[in-house]
Amino acid sequence: MRKKIIAANWKMHMTQSESEAFLTTFLREIEDNDTVEVVIVPPFTSIPKVSELLTQTQNIKVGAQNMYWERSGAFTGEISPAMLRELFVRYVVLGHSERRAIFGETDEIVNRKVHAAYEEVLRPIVCVGETLGQREKGDVEKVLSTQLRGSLANVGAKELHETVIAYEPVWAIGTGKTASAAEAQKAHAFIRKTLAELTDEATADKVRIQYGGSVKPDNAHELLTQPDIDGALVGGASLDPRSFAQIVKAGAPNG
Ligand code: PEP
Repeated sequence: MRKKIIAANWKMHMTQSESEAFLTTFLREIEDNDTVEVVIVPPFTSIPKVSELLTQTQNIKVGAQNMYWERSGAFTGEISPAMLRELFVRYVVLGHSERRAIFGETDEIVNRKVHAAYEEVLRPIVCVGETLGQREKGDVEKVLSTQLRGSLANVGAKELHETVIAYEPVWAIGTGKTASAAEAQKAHAFIRKTLAELTDEATADKVRIQYGGSVKPDNAHELLTQPDIDGALVGGASLDPRSFAQIVKAGAPNG
């Protein structure tokens, strides 16, 4: 049984004081959730505050939105896996479509970062997803296959087990358009099949695959009850502690 994993990608939002205000409300709303793993993914500057405030919570982890692959060195403006680890970061989002589109990240770059994450015992959340043009051309599976095979090159079964995949159709991110539950399930099943080809079926069966793209309290239940959807990567709706708490509750077995 795969435990659901629901992550809040705050992007370039939330100062330290805003993060503190968010968590005060969110922790009250969420009560004693122990069936869903929650990951808060703040901007780098708010990570220390969020980590400090979450030291007592078992099921809420801290993630980062990006990192560089080197351990240290002359890389002005970059953050290393070891620096994140020291701040109790457990997950790192890699290859988000905004990083790919705005900052030119390729599958090869994502792959280097994925391996650097394993070395520092960070769990990567690897994002894949097609653009609207690619979907309209009927290329969804081709794009997903290329991104998965490139981003996960030379990843073995043991590491893949520690990895989360986020299926995020680019046309659904921040647009209010969501893939239908059936469309999302189809893509997730294809991703799991590809993971089995990369390793083996037993491993692929254990990997959690999140859906991301305009997840809101009112569509979360339908998406999260699809057989291959094991969680959500939430942008806009994760900035409101009550909305995000509702999405987390929708991921609980009786949600
Ligand atoms: C995201 O940034 O990963 C995302 C899915 O954003 P939104 O929920 O706003 O579409």
